Amino acid sequence: MIRQKIVLRFPPHIVEQPTIYHLIKDFDLMVNILRADINPKKEGRLIMELSGDDTAYKQAIEWMKGQGLEVMNLEQQIIWRDDRCTHCGACTVICPTEALYFERPDMIVKFAEDKCIVCELCLRACPARAMETLVENANFG
Ligand code: SF4
Ligand code: SF4
Repeated sequence: MIRQKIVLRFPPHIVEQPTIYHLIKDFDLMVNILRADINPKKEGRLIMELSGDDTAYKQAIEWMKGQGLEVMNLEQQIIWRDDRCTHCGACTVICPTEALYFERPDMIVKFAEDKCIVCELCLRACPARAMETLVENANFG
């Protein structure tokens, strides 16, 4: 059993294909869509969590790559630069999943990567530029 968050990029020519349908029907995976930026006729991006049988999951990843989708590993997307963080807390207010939070009693900001859904709100909210994204460089491993 595997549970993995991934990012899919759809080229314009396949953005309207029923990819989710195939993941469920052909690979028996559970699909939890966390974020979707899809415009018909334009490139789309989908962030989701897949869970199911390990072998079926790997086959599904290969199938998606074969269809021309770019598949990336979500954990590689958002980087918290603790050397830049001033622990001002601005990101903890805006983070929708509490991936960025104050740790008590010291009230130091921490980053729980497993809760991050790569909404990128913290990138704009952080005055110290302590949050970075590696979306362009991440490859599925
Ligand atoms: S907004 Fe930036 S500097 Fe402030 S606590 Fe969050 S990561 Fe640190
Ligand atoms: S990208 Fe979104 S979910 Fe992830 S830490 Fe930043 S605000 Fe939270």
